[in-house]
Amino acid sequence: MPTNKTVTIVVPVYNEAENIPHFTRAVADAMAPLPYDYTLLFVDDGSREESRRVLRETAENNPHVRAIYLSRNYGHQAALTCGIDNADGDAVITMDGDMQHPPVLIPRLLALWEQGYDIVQTIRETTEGVSPFKRLSSKYYYKALNLISEVTIQPGGSDFRLMDREAVLALRQYREHDRFIRGIVGALGFRQVQVPFVAPERYAGTSKFSLKKMAKFALNGILGNSIVPLRISFYIGLLSLLFSVALFGHVIFEEFEGDTVPGWSTLVILAAFFGGTQLMVLGILGEYIGHIFREVKGRPLYLTQKERPLDESGRKDV
Ligand code: UDP
Ligand code: MG
Repeated sequence: MPTNKTVTIVVPVYNEAENIPHFTRAVADAMAPLPYDYTLLFVDDGSREESRRVLRETAENNPHVRAIYLSRNYGHQAALTCGIDNADGDAVITMDGDMQHPPVLIPRLLALWEQGYDIVQTIRETTEGVSPFKRLSSKYYYKALNLISEVTIQPGGSDFRLMDREAVLALRQYREHDRFIRGIVGALGFRQVQVPFVAPERYAGTSKFSLKKMAKFALNGILGNSIVPLRISFYIGLLSLLFSVALFGHVIFEEFEGDTVPGWSTLVILAAFFGGTQLMVLGILGEYIGHIFREVKGRPLYLTQKERPLDESGRKDV
């Protein structure tokens, strides 16, 4: 008899003691009818309340549950990475532990995986009860990010996704420190498919993302996926050089008209010219820094993949 395929569900948690038992039950309910051996791998991101004790007890009483404890709070992306590094299932699902990534969707993700997709990415369509500020800032952030980034990052993309083991091994090769996992997954390639969902409100507790954490995460998304900000000074410099040329014409004209204070024309032209040159040179430095930046990240140069056709019913070019 063939053995079951294995699925590892990775869940980073930070002060989620009230959510852990409820979430564990919901995952068990979703997995019970399915023919998989699953492990629910919690990564405790340095929780300061009861989470550790709750996780230890849950792991003692439930053979499906494992927990890893980080030495302090490293942040959601680092905790997620730790879980992905330690997940040995044939498929790995990452999700939040607060029920905002509904466990009832798990069977759909697994069904798409069975059709041959390597990465099943959920897309958050709306979040119930979220402030208009968070909704709008997220929407415009992704628009801006896509404009300047080298890979497409889906608006509403969440860290709720399923990855085939092959894609997981690929993702593990990305070792950059300031990470924005959504951007990396977008850059991986493989056969990807999207599943929209509506995120409900948290089951218990409050969001663990302070404005500061959110801003840092947003900045990592830009700095990690784009060198356009480094180029900005080059373009501003170019513009102001062009401006100084136009100004030169204007000043000469005024000079002939005799409307100017002596010395004014020279000063204005020199200021515009040198301002422009300096910014352009900074922009050139920026280009080199951009190259250094890409090198020090040490991302893999390419990823290969085993040939395996998609199931007839699900073939789709992504
Ligand atoms: N989380 C974490 N470390 C942190 C912040 C959050 O592991 O420093 C976990 C948190 O426990 C939850 C998931 O990451 O399981 C998503 O966090 P949260 O629900 O607070 O984010 P939101 O849904 O408000 O964006
Ligand atoms: Mg949440």
